[in-house]
Amino acid sequence: MKNPTFSRFTHCNSVFSFALNNFISAFFACIFFIYTRFYGTHEAIIDQDVFDKVQEIRQQRHRMTKAGRSSMFSGLVYCADCGKRLYFYTCKSFERRQDYFICSTHRMHGDKCGAHFIRAVVLEELVWAHIKTVISYVTCHEAHFRAVIERRMKLNTEDAVQVRKKRLKKVEQRIRELDQMFIRLYEDNVKGRISDDRFAMMSKTYEDEQAQLKAEADTLRQEIEAQAQNEVDLESFIEKVRKYSDLQELTPYALRELVKGIYVEAPVEIDGKRHQNIRIQYDFVGFIPMDELNRQDSV
Ligand SMILES: [Zn+2]
Repeated sequence: MKNPTFSRFTHCNSVFSFALNNFISAFFACIFFIYTRFYGTHEAIIDQDVFDKVQEIRQQRHRMTKAGRSSMFSGLVYCADCGKRLYFYTCKSFERRQDYFICSTHRMHGDKCGAHFIRAVVLEELVWAHIKTVISYVTCHEAHFRAVIERRMKLNTEDAVQVRKKRLKKVEQRIRELDQMFIRLYEDNVKGRISDDRFAMMSKTYEDEQAQLKAEADTLRQEIEAQAQNEVDLESFIEKVRKYSDLQELTPYALRELVKGIYVEAPVEIDGKRHQNIRIQYDFVGFIPMDELNRQDSV
């Protein structure tokens, strides 16, 4: 005879396993879905821009020092004179305020570059002050900021674009000339004015030159088109800065999102005090001309 309690138990048990199986299948289906979406078309899950930034940060990921400390600035700081990285230095006996960055050229080769040295806390103060100013400027005077940066981008690129356009015109003209020269060469060969060997040799020379010029023309066209990207870049930067309008302290992610590089200049002594300038290259827009921004008549 069947035990009703046991029967109920086995029934419940089978209902439970059924539900559990369903849950496990659904769980793995979800994981599979996320996996395929992420690796195939990751923009559906995270923004492409964020994805790229994370990859960039991963590539720049720095090692923890033996003292068990690291700096969010590692890999971002460069010497303004030699262009090489500044290394983060700390040791167990140091207090945090003693940690510093030093030019790698100076560290390895001494006199080849002056002792570009900055304490990590000073660097953080300077960078945070700069970023705060930029954020508040974009937040309060967006139109002015846009106008100044737009004009600067134009000034920076206008000459470069003109040089490239001029060169492109010459390259295109030479490509056409080579076409004509090739036709004449071919006619000369057909009419027996030049030998087959000479024809083969000269046509090879023309073809090589033309191939080289075509590659150069492609590069020049791409570079000219790239200038149109400036406007998009400026908008992307403003959008990013808006995101941080309430930032209360510098975070490693905000730093990496906004900044591409920090250039530390040699210290100067003014009235017996050590002064050190830094220049910040922001993502998308490069160096921001703060003094120009502060001039009311700058646009
Ligand atoms: Zn240096």
